[in-house]
Amino acid sequence: MHSDIAIIGGGPAGLTAGLYAARGGASVTLYEELFPGGQIAKTPLVENYPGFPDGIVGYEVGSTIQKQAEKFGLKVEYAGATGLVLDETPKRILLPDREDTAKAVILCMGAHARSLGIPREDELTGAGVSYCATCDGAFFKGKAVAVIGGGDTAISDALYLSRFCTSVTVVHRRDEFRAASVLVEKSKETPNIQFALSCIPLSFTGEKQVEGLEILDKKTSIARVLPVSGVFVAVGIKPQTDLVKDLVTLNEGGSIVTDELMKTNIPGVYAAGDIRNTPLRQVITACADGAVAATAALEFIACH
Ligand code: NAP
Repeated sequence: MHSDIAIIGGGPAGLTAGLYAARGGASVTLYEELFPGGQIAKTPLVENYPGFPDGIVGYEVGSTIQKQAEKFGLKVEYAGATGLVLDETPKRILLPDREDTAKAVILCMGAHARSLGIPREDELTGAGVSYCATCDGAFFKGKAVAVIGGGDTAISDALYLSRFCTSVTVVHRRDEFRAASVLVEKSKETPNIQFALSCIPLSFTGEKQVEGLEILDKKTSIARVLPVSGVFVAVGIKPQTDLVKDLVTLNEGGSIVTDELMKTNIPGVYAAGDIRNTPLRQVITACADGAVAATAALEFIACH
C-alpha cells in the first residue's frame, strides 16, 4: 500500500497529525501496534486537556481524535512497524507481513517514563504511584507526597506539588542535584519541601493504595517509612526511538531533534510529541506538534 503520508504511532501526536493531514487532502495511513491514545489511554482522568471542564477519561482522548480523523479519511492500520527505510524515495515502512511506502513519514512513537523497578511499583501505579505530577498532582491536594529523583523534572514537580500538597519529600540517591541550581535553591526555600538525600526507595506500604514509601539511607544503612499518599517518580524518560535511533539525529537524552516545523535531519521525515526534544510532555503539546508536523508534511508532498 502506498500513502502520501505515513504516521508511526497512534498517541495524541500521531492521531492529530492524521486529522490535519487527512483533512488537508492527503492519503494518510497511521500504523499503531496496540490501541489509539498511547500513554494517555492508561490515564484514568485527564483534567488539563482544554475543552473538558469535568475532565476526560484518558482512553477517550485517543478514540475521539481517531473518530474525528477517520471522518476525513485517515486509515488506521493495527500493525507495528518492524523497520523503516527513510533515506529512499518513496520511504518504506516494514511490517510483519508486508512492506508499505509513503512520500513523507511522521514519527510519533512517544516516550515512556523510566520506572524504579522496585517491588509493587506496577501494581500501585494509578493507586498512589504516578509518573506525571502535572497530570496527577491535583488528586493529592491536601496530602503528603514524595518525589523521587534529583533532576529538573523532580525539583520542578516538587515545587509544583508544594503549592497544594501539605508536604513534599524529595528522595534523591545522591547529595548533589542534577537539577538547575536556581530550582534547587527555590525548593530549599520552600517551607513544605523536605529532602531525603543519599536515600534510595525500597518498597511501598499500603494494601490497595499507597500509604507510605520505604527508603534506605545509604550513609547510615537505616531504613524508614515516609508516610505519604502519593509517590511521584521523576527519574527520567525514555523516548521510544528503537526503530530510528541509527537513522535520525537524537539529542543527549535520546529524543529526536527537530526544528520548529517538526523536521528531523532527513527531508520528508518529521517527529511529533513526546519522542522529540520538547520542553513539556502533555496531550495538548503532543496534539500541537502533530498539527505542525502534518502541515509541514503536506507542504513537502506538494513539492515532491
Ligand atoms: P534527568 O535529568 O535524567 O534526571 C533523572 C534523575 O533521576 C537524576 O537525578 C537521577 O539521579 C535520578 N535517577 C535515575 N535513575 C534512578 C533510579 N533508578 N533511582 C533513583 N533515582 C534515579 O531527567 P529529568 O529530570 O526528567 O530531565 C530530563 C531532561 O528534561 C533534562 O535535560 C532536563 O534538563 C529537562 N527538563 C527541563 C525542565 C526545565 O524546567 N527546563 C524541566 C524538566 C525537565 P542521578 O542524578 O544520581 O543520576
